[in-house]
Amino acid sequence: MRIEVVTIGDELLLGFTIDTNAAHLARALAAEGIEVARRTTCGDTAASIADAVGDALERTGAVITTGGLGPTSDDLTKPSIAALFGREMVLDEEHLAWMKERWRTRFQRELPASNRQQAMLPRGAHKLVNQHGSAPGIWLEDEQGRWVAMLPGVPREMRGMLADTLLPLLRERLGGEGWPVRSLTIRTTGIGESHIADLVTAIPDGLGDVELAYLPNADGTDLRVTVRGAPRPIADARLALAAVRLRSVVGSHAYGEDATDLAAVVLDLCRAQGLTVAVAESCTGGLLGARLTDIPGSSDVVRGGVIAYHDDIKRSVLGVPADVLREHGAVSEPVVRAMAAGVRILTGSDAALAITGIAGPGGGSEAKPVGTVWIALDFQGEVESRRFMMIGDRAEIRHRSAQAAMEMLRRRLQR
Ligand code: ATP
Ligand code: MG
Repeated sequence: MRIEVVTIGDELLLGFTIDTNAAHLARALAAEGIEVARRTTCGDTAASIADAVGDALERTGAVITTGGLGPTSDDLTKPSIAALFGREMVLDEEHLAWMKERWRTRFQRELPASNRQQAMLPRGAHKLVNQHGSAPGIWLEDEQGRWVAMLPGVPREMRGMLADTLLPLLRERLGGEGWPVRSLTIRTTGIGESHIADLVTAIPDGLGDVELAYLPNADGTDLRVTVRGAPRPIADARLALAAVRLRSVVGSHAYGEDATDLAAVVLDLCRAQGLTVAVAESCTGGLLGARLTDIPGSSDVVRGGVIAYHDDIKRSVLGVPADVLREHGAVSEPVVRAMAAGVRILTGSDAALAITGIAGPGGGSEAKPVGTVWIALDFQGEVESRRFMMIGDRAEIRHRSAQAAMEMLRRRLQR
């Protein structure tokens, strides 16, 4: 089954709202073996909705829209699409009664007049239940079996209605036809995209019948393998084989699969070994601590940390000797090692990570350009340190630094 998606809303065209609905729909439909042939976004006018949905119907006869179902006057989706099907709008008494009841019991108020419009449906339409809001979704189909499913714009309502009502309906229509798109992601860090590509090219038998995508980002390089057009067990077997071969070349650079967060991996390893962790951060200003404590349950591993932004704090709180700071500068190996050792003792932790660097855009020099970052790990009194040259803007340099620090700890724990 091939379908088109039309997302409706001026705020999407203006770029004030990011079109997460289209992305969610594409992923959820692919998982059912339904191909999204095209995505379109149009503004909140009757003419542009009719244009976009009309064109999409011509091409595939199967369209999902989101947005414009609400009570406000800019919500024109239903009447525009009803007109395309040559249907008039009629009051759905059952839905009106349901809404009146909902307003009485939930809000202890009479139904506002503007909400009555939500009970107007194209003649012959079917309601798609909405357990997450008051606007029902709508299924409209003509004699030739061409259909439009209209979902609400609010992402939470859209996702709920898709899962509860529309997907079961589409599954029934597919009747076992259609193979899901299956994919798997291997997350790597500390190894570049082109380096991985060279290693992959050298695999004697290749990766098998899969597509491989390189997805570089501030965490590292994600490797996504995808199989389309095969029954699920066969697709999964191909993915598993490709994953084994990829892991054999990226080796210890792989830290997890799919949406795995390196912070969660590190916390699990610490927990399993009964270890506690502390952080001392200069240029990351708390980002490393935030990454670790974002993970629920981190409190049994993370003891605390110090944002030692100013040299005074590096000296007075972390005990970095003044002459070391003066002689080597704040972004230096002796300082980062002293920061790690200082915070480990201060917090009584088993392991401590320290970061000091130049995130830019100012502050760089020839000897220490923007992106120079020193990271140290004090593991039970044994200190290791490394200099990195991070690429990207300030935000990326900070993010990559926090990631590299966690990676240093992961490697130590998996040694
Ligand atoms: P409402 O009853 O709230 O009016 P609606 O079905 O009319 O719902 P919209 O008015 O189009 O939906 O959008 C409601 C909210 O959902 C807005 O905050 C909007 O920014 C957000 N939204 C709409 N479309 C999308 C989309 N494609 N992706 C992400 N968010 C969206
Ligand atoms: Mg609206």
